[in-house]
Amino acid sequence: MDARLRRMKWRLSRPNWDHDHCEFCSAKLSNYEGDLHEGYTTDDEYNWICPKCFEDFREEFRWTVEPGAEPESGPPSSAPGDR
Ligand SMILES: [Zn+2]
Repeated sequence: MDARLRRMKWRLSRPNWDHDHCEFCSAKLSNYEGDLHEGYTTDDEYNWICPKCFEDFREEFRWTVEPGAEPESGPPSSAPGDR
């Protein structure tokens, strides 16, 4: 999967539809309490990935996050003190 993803609050994207599942772990995204309320999705909002799986697989799949969509946007190499 080579995709551009953006972090979004989950929302109804289709009629007669009230939830989606993470592509990898099947975590449920919906507006219901107890479910995930946001995740990463493709431009067409068809595939959803939960934040945990996004972190787990982002390097492996080389996902591109839409500019500005990511909260912390510092370059990865800007941490000289790497423990
Ligand atoms: Zn997941």
